[in-house]
Amino acid sequence: MVLDKDVIVIGGGAAGLMCAIEAGKRGRSVLVLERSEKIGKKILISGGGRCNFTNRDASPRNFVSRNPHFCKSALARFTPQDFISLVEKYGVAYHEKKLGQLFCDLSSDEIMHLLEEECKAAKVEVRVNCNVSKIERNDHFQTHVNDEILSSRSLVIATGGRSIPKMGATSFGYETAKHFGLGIVTTRPALVPFTWDSHDLKIYGELAGVSLDAIVRCGNKEFRENILFTHKGLSGPAILQISSYWQNRHPIFIDLLPEKDVMDELAQARKSGIGLVGALSKHLPRRFVQIWCEQNVPAKPMSHCTGKDLKAISDCLHRWQVTPNGTEGYDKAEVTIGGVDTKDFSSQTMECKKVPALYFVGEVMDVTGHLGGYNFQWAWSSGFAAGQAV
Ligand SMILES: Cc1cc2nc3c(=O)[nH]c(=O)nc-3n(C[C@H](O)[C@H](O)[C@H](O)COP(=O)(O)OP(=O)(O)OC[C@H]3O[C@@H](n4cnc5c(N)ncnc54)[C@H](O)[C@@H]3O)c2cc1C
Repeated sequence: MVLDKDVIVIGGGAAGLMCAIEAGKRGRSVLVLERSEKIGKKILISGGGRCNFTNRDASPRNFVSRNPHFCKSALARFTPQDFISLVEKYGVAYHEKKLGQLFCDLSSDEIMHLLEEECKAAKVEVRVNCNVSKIERNDHFQTHVNDEILSSRSLVIATGGRSIPKMGATSFGYETAKHFGLGIVTTRPALVPFTWDSHDLKIYGELAGVSLDAIVRCGNKEFRENILFTHKGLSGPAILQISSYWQNRHPIFIDLLPEKDVMDELAQARKSGIGLVGALSKHLPRRFVQIWCEQNVPAKPMSHCTGKDLKAISDCLHRWQVTPNGTEGYDKAEVTIGGVDTKDFSSQTMECKKVPALYFVGEVMDVTGHLGGYNFQWAWSSGFAAGQAV
């Protein structure tokens, strides 16, 4: 039988394109099939249009997976510096925003441009508006796309997670994994804002737009960055990060005054008559303090508070318990946590141990990065690893 291509890659996102480029460079004939009308849609909207394309400090501890060791090999073989070198080769100006997060100075388009140029140089064929509906395997892979059946020696599934269905996200990767008898780690939205229940919404909804520095904790995980009150619940980087560890209806704990001991100030406020709102407004937005105190502090004059009362207020400020009633779901989630179980794959090549020549790369796998450029780094690294092997 005549093969249409050596390698077919399903999904023209970050991981699929990187894999295609590397395979093409090795002389493989490669075809990328993308369901949307253009490739790389998530790259274009990422990082607020400036693509946080990697994180200088990416390491395995920035990833969530049932097997936390799985990502190590790929991350070591294609590092943040390797992607930075590619960015520099194309003269893309970039900057570090914070915490190692690298963004384009101008636009995400520049990352797309470099990927397209690399595809051209590696003679990768890209077809858009190609919705792959079915895969079969006999001696080779048969990919059913629109009205055609295309054959290839190797097949790479790079169809991403479930987040943002209106941008082309499908569950195709998970269905294909099931079809080949592979495990799936339960998926859920992550890097996603929380929602209040109707009671809390009435109280805290008024604070939409207020942002403050905090430490947010859930189980044994904690993140220190801003939290943001929205008209539906809570967002901001610290909240998005903790959402990757949150289980439905569990409480989270917010330290509203990280590293600040306010016991002396509270005692002083009691003595001077400034009052609690006045004292706390030195550290936190006044609008927030007013509402927070109404809800969390017994209604009695400061002058009547005992030392024990002040200690209780201070403890509550450092460990404010909040129980979200859910998240804004896949429509707003930056990523999908869980996915195709890594136990069935080689961590060196992303090849499936049970089905030779079948590869999974990128977000469809059960490897999810923290906020801050880690998810693209996983897409580049896993795509590169497969690209060396297909
Ligand atoms: C709003 C937003 C902002 C983000 N910002 C950042 C950021 O700044 N930094 C960062 O590191 N991460 C960011 N992320 C996460 C990052 O975009 C993803 O983790 C990354 O794009 C995953 O790459 P991927 O190639 O695995 O999947 P995707 O980029 O999702 O690509 C999968 C592709 O497969 C296609 N596809 C699906 N099903 C089929 C099918 N049946 N047939 C053919 N094609 C199909 C899809 O149309 C899609 O183009 C952001 C995500 C979102 C939603």
